[in-house]
Amino acid sequence: MADDNDIVFLHGQFMPMSEAKISPMDRGFLFGDGIYEVVPSYDAKLVGFGLHIERMQNGLDAIGIKLNMGVDDWRNIAQNLIEKNGKGNLGLYFHVSRGADVKRFHAFPDNIQPTVFAYAFTIPAPPIADKSKVKQYSVTSTEDLRWKRCQIKSTSLLGNVMHFQQGREAGVDETILYNQRDELTEASACNVFIVKNDVIMTPPLDNQLLPGITRNMVLDILRKDGTLQIQERPISMTEVHAADELWLTSSSKEIAPVVELDGQPVGNGRVGDIWQLAQTLYSANKHNY
Ligand code: PLP
Repeated sequence: MADDNDIVFLHGQFMPMSEAKISPMDRGFLFGDGIYEVVPSYDAKLVGFGLHIERMQNGLDAIGIKLNMGVDDWRNIAQNLIEKNGKGNLGLYFHVSRGADVKRFHAFPDNIQPTVFAYAFTIPAPPIADKSKVKQYSVTSTEDLRWKRCQIKSTSLLGNVMHFQQGREAGVDETILYNQRDELTEASACNVFIVKNDVIMTPPLDNQLLPGITRNMVLDILRKDGTLQIQERPISMTEVHAADELWLTSSSKEIAPVVELDGQPVGNGRVGDIWQLAQTLYSANKHNY
């Protein structure tokens, strides 16, 4: 999906993608001045919808965009997009920019209407918690050169795009990032977890990483299960390189097992038992969110 015939939502209306137009003066286009979300939907069942909309509202508040839309309005758009474009495995993309002004000027203009855009695109089927069938990921690592407000899900994604491209050019799936203290932050489009001696660890939330909805759900599901110890704490890259397991989490990937980091095997180089347990629990519980 995602071609010209798809039905999208723009400026308060549903229309074919080919008819969706925005002004070149839109601040989303000129400045990347906006907030976005991606919500997964499997067979018309939305995952973590309220949590995604809450994060989007936090982002809008953080950058001072006032939008008179609540969770029911967004749910209505989501359900319409699913109805009009077919069910299946979808990512629902929601985008709010500050809107279009008549001149290009950095300061927030008064009295412009935010631009609201939404469309649906196909995402892969969710991973099955089976070590022999799941996609195995390879990643590289590099210093995180993005900005200091990574908790905001901003449409200004050039820093992330450049880090993702580094991974592509190195022939791997993702790029994991570390700060100047050599501590893990996240990846260019995912959060990161490690496992060592059956302890599951991920960096704490701060301005260096996006508060991933999948991260949040994985932590909550694992804590409720109670079998394994969980730590949210700074993680050095030495610990990442010595981990038994390394995972990426995101809405479209769920929990993705990484078997190679910087050309070296992660742990024994195979998908781990703890991944299997975590993805099994996630698959069983994700629709409770
Ligand atoms: N970190 C970054 C930089 C991301 O872009 C994303 C998702 O797009 C994530 C983490 C994972 O967030 P979520 O689990 O909410 O999809």
